Amino acid sequence: MAGLMPGLMQDWPLTVDKILDHGARWHPHREVVSRSIEGPIVRTTYGAIHERAKKLSNALLAHGIRPGDRVATLAFNTARHIEAWYGVMGIGAVCHTLNPRLFAEQLVYIINHAADRILLADICAASIVEGILGQCPTIEKVVWLSDDGHKPNDLPGVAYERWIADQSAECAWGDFPENTAAGLCYTSGTTGNPKGVLYSHRSNYLHTLMSLQADVQGLSSADNVLMVVPMFHANAWGLAFSGPAVGAKLVMPGNQMDGASILELLETEQVSVSAAVPTVFQMLLQHLEKTGARLPYLKKVLIGGSACPEAIIRRFNDEYDVEVLHLWGMTEMSPVGSVGVPCATVAALPYDDQIPYRLKQGRVPLGVDMKLTDDEGKLLAHDGEKFGRLKVAGHSVAKAYFRGDGGEILDADGFFDTGDVATLDELGYMQITDRSKDVIKSGGEWISSIEIENIAAGHPKVALAAVVGLQHPKWDERPLLIVQMKPGESATKEELLHFLDGKIAKWWMPNDVAFDSVPLGATGKIDKKHIRAKYEGYRWPEAVAAE
Ligand code: AMP
Repeated sequence: MAGLMPGLMQDWPLTVDKILDHGARWHPHREVVSRSIEGPIVRTTYGAIHERAKKLSNALLAHGIRPGDRVATLAFNTARHIEAWYGVMGIGAVCHTLNPRLFAEQLVYIINHAADRILLADICAASIVEGILGQCPTIEKVVWLSDDGHKPNDLPGVAYERWIADQSAECAWGDFPENTAAGLCYTSGTTGNPKGVLYSHRSNYLHTLMSLQADVQGLSSADNVLMVVPMFHANAWGLAFSGPAVGAKLVMPGNQMDGASILELLETEQVSVSAAVPTVFQMLLQHLEKTGARLPYLKKVLIGGSACPEAIIRRFNDEYDVEVLHLWGMTEMSPVGSVGVPCATVAALPYDDQIPYRLKQGRVPLGVDMKLTDDEGKLLAHDGEKFGRLKVAGHSVAKAYFRGDGGEILDADGFFDTGDVATLDELGYMQITDRSKDVIKSGGEWISSIEIENIAAGHPKVALAAVVGLQHPKWDERPLLIVQMKPGESATKEELLHFLDGKIAKWWMPNDVAFDSVPLGATGKIDKKHIRAKYEGYRWPEAVAAE
């Protein structure tokens, strides 16, 4: 714009390599602890990770990886995965995190869509890799995140340790525009195919600064952080960046997230902060109850991904003196959207009166804006009662999907429709009341109700099929399949589940089948609200059998 005077401050592109540079330079000996996929707990430091990530960068460059190329990881949280992130992003390539829990067909679709050139995979994902590799022609090389002694010998690929061993630890990182793509993560795709969210260096860097606000993660160099949230789902809530950014000790669970394994790390590593989906903490609380163990070091836990039940908030507070912070976000937001750190008004209330606020999904930090609208885009009041479409904008919110999938995703004011239905109250607390698509959240991962319905409805004896997520003590929610048979037809539960077998991922399999009429709403769509109300408090067969 004519007449504007440029500032005279340094151009210092906001690229994420600077984050690990900082961690290694100013906190070189700070530990990074992983439960390795091989089994033992392994210790390293930010200094060593920095050096090894640079070696990886050189191995990638020697292979011919260039800026913009996609390098995929299929891995749980370990120090090697952190090295992979920085080693890939540092040279301007794009780190594409693949979720090992996805169905093989989805992985094949995503890898081909992204045109990944190299796949860095955990050895525990060997059977997945074996199943998909033949269908992924863009992958030129598999690198097993292990040493020679542990890599699967019957599959193609080189061991990571061998691959980086002879490389130099000198490599120029960064020095490209901050809007360069850094990471790629596909949404779980409840309707249609998964869509790619393409993070930039700038969006990740600013997301890190935003997350470090006291009213978000509030981490410090004195914290020991157990990062349970997976690096393959929604950026591990940014913790793989915020850890080295402040020099916090980072602790990672590998692929062991049961109560006993988590407790062991909390104790031996004196963890002060942790972050995970409700299921993980539910399993931990059950384990604590069984063993009588205490949590002397843990101060706060960030819980999100699905709504945090009141019982978790209360038990952590009342029995273990641990503060629960409820967090909401999504892949398209890098992922942090809101956090429930009590504001002054709420903090002044007696604890019981704080609970309704703590159950809400929290307030926006600087860097996120939110609005509520009706279906026509008209703004709704922030009165805590009117609910509407939740739309967001910010420096770390997607403006389009990779390769333009889904077309235009922002409204005229630049806001992205989250697909969540929510309220906002006078204090700025947002509460999710529904998902506009009725996705089922099982152990922090999504199950598409519609996909199962469509397959079940293909059974020759079935007239209508509906799938709803109902509460489950271990997994948060599990799918219940409701079928309305064609007149004069009958079937057994086993027959219907057998029909689904092989057509959906095993963990998508409904836990039970109910033979019932399937109610339709005014527009001919299945009325899930009605079904949920009817089946509220449903007792799963295991619970009935246990009595
Ligand atoms: P994803 O992109 O897979 O991380 O999923 C994002 C979606 O998960 C959001 O749009 C919400 O529907 C849901 N979600 C995330 N956090 C919460 C929360 N704290 N409470 C309720 N739903 C949540």
